[in-house]
Formats: sequence, structure tokens, C-alpha cells
Amino acid sequence: MKIKIILIISLVLLGVLVIYWQSKDSSKLVFCDVGQGDAMLIREGNWEMLLDVGGDDGKVMRCLERHVPFWDKTIELVIISHWDKDHCGGLIKLSRYYKINDLLANRLPGGEYEQYSYSKVLNVGDVVQVGKVRFDVISSSIENVNDGGEENDSSLVGILYYRDNKILMMGDAGAEVEQKLVWRGMLKQIQHDGGIDILKVSHHGSGTSTSDDLINMVRPKIAVVSVGRNSYGHPSMEVINRLENFGVEVKRTDKSGDVMVN
Ligand SMILES: [Zn+2]
Repeated sequence: MKIKIILIISLVLLGVLVIYWQSKDSSKLVFCDVGQGDAMLIREGNWEMLLDVGGDDGKVMRCLERHVPFWDKTIELVIISHWDKDHCGGLIKLSRYYKINDLLANRLPGGEYEQYSYSKVLNVGDVVQVGKVRFDVISSSIENVNDGGEENDSSLVGILYYRDNKILMMGDAGAEVEQKLVWRGMLKQIQHDGGIDILKVSHHGSGTSTSDDLINMVRPKIAVVSVGRNSYGHPSMEVINRLENFGVEVKRTDKSGDVMVN
């Protein structure tokens, strides 16, 4: 008898949980609070993608627990902007608890991430189109690193189209990459179409990126700074002021936690 009652209560609780998760907004875009690092989640029903997965402390897992039903253990697509620990470090924990269907990145990883070398490399001009998400790559590893640039400059930079939002994902790209994008007219079409909705500010708000030229060209409504406690002085107040001088609303994961976009 006792066992029966416990069974019934468990089933009711499970039912309540399922209803709760299904009634929760099932399509969302979240800039996860992963401390010092980047991770952005898109969920469309039971389809999920991550653009970067935060550091090896696995904070990205907490973000998934907050926004993805506990029974959904497949991430359909992961894109790694570049292989710095604060962007890719979460991959090992993630792959222990979730099945990753596709992994795309700026280059093959090497080192401890070599086991993920089945990943596909994205280059400038590539377009990733899956369901309601489209990601147009406008800067990638090959030219910038062959030019002798640093790892940060090898970041995939792209325009992400999701629902009504146009989002410029800058990875950790530095000033030189930004200048190339501005002066070579890679962002001209965006400017012509009235700018972007959201700027994922480069390199955690570092003073070496997010120039007046770039802001002026893409005119974001919102800028998201993905940042946590760090010893580098990120974000630079100069960058925050620069954005605010252009009337851009700045949102920071260290102040607001997960930043959600409708
Ligand atoms: Zn970084």
C-alpha cells in the first residue's frame, strides 16, 4: 500500500515537472553566466545549440540545468569560436553528460581536445543554417593566424540570425580583426540594413576591441559583455562608456547573471 502511494505521488510530481518545463518558454536565447568566459545557448523546443561552452569549471552545465529540461540530454550543435580555455574548457564535462551531435570550430583543436577532432572547421563565407538559426561566418582562423596574429584573433566572428534578432558574435577578436571587418566592408550590408540588434562584445569587454568605428558601423541596440571575476581588468570602463555614448544598453553577466533575449 505504502509503495503504491509513493508511486502515485512520484508520478504526479513527474507530471507536474513535465508540464512546468513544457509551459516554460521553450524557445530562448541566453548568454549564460559562466563566470570569466563565453557560452551562448539557443533552445527551440528540444533542439539546442551552444556557441562556446565556458571554462573547465563546467559552469555551462548549471546554465543548461536552468534552461533545458532535465530529460533532454542531447545538444544538437556546438560551435567553438576558438580554443582558449574560457571558451572551450566546458567541452569535456559537457560531453560526459550530454550527447553532442555536431561540433563546428575555427580550427581543429589539437592537445587535450584532440578527441574532438571530428569537428568540422568553419571558414569565412560559410553559412550554418539549422532550423530557425543561421550563422554567417565573417572572420575565421586561417587568414588571421597565418598573418601571425594571436589565438584571440583566430576567433570565429559571425552574424547570428535568430527569430527577429541579428546578433554580431565577436568571439575574442582584437582591434586588427575589427578594423579588417570595418574597412573591408564585411559589415557594410549590415550597416545598410540598419545595423544589428545585439553585439556580443569581443573579449569580455577588453580595451583592445570594440572601437568607435565598429560601434558606429553596426549600431547595436544592446551589448552583452560575458565576463566574471578576472585579473585582466575586463571589462574596460572605456569600452562600457564608449558603448553608452552611442546609446547602447549594456548588459553584463557578472552583474545580471544569465542575460536572456526574447
Ligand atoms: Zn575569452
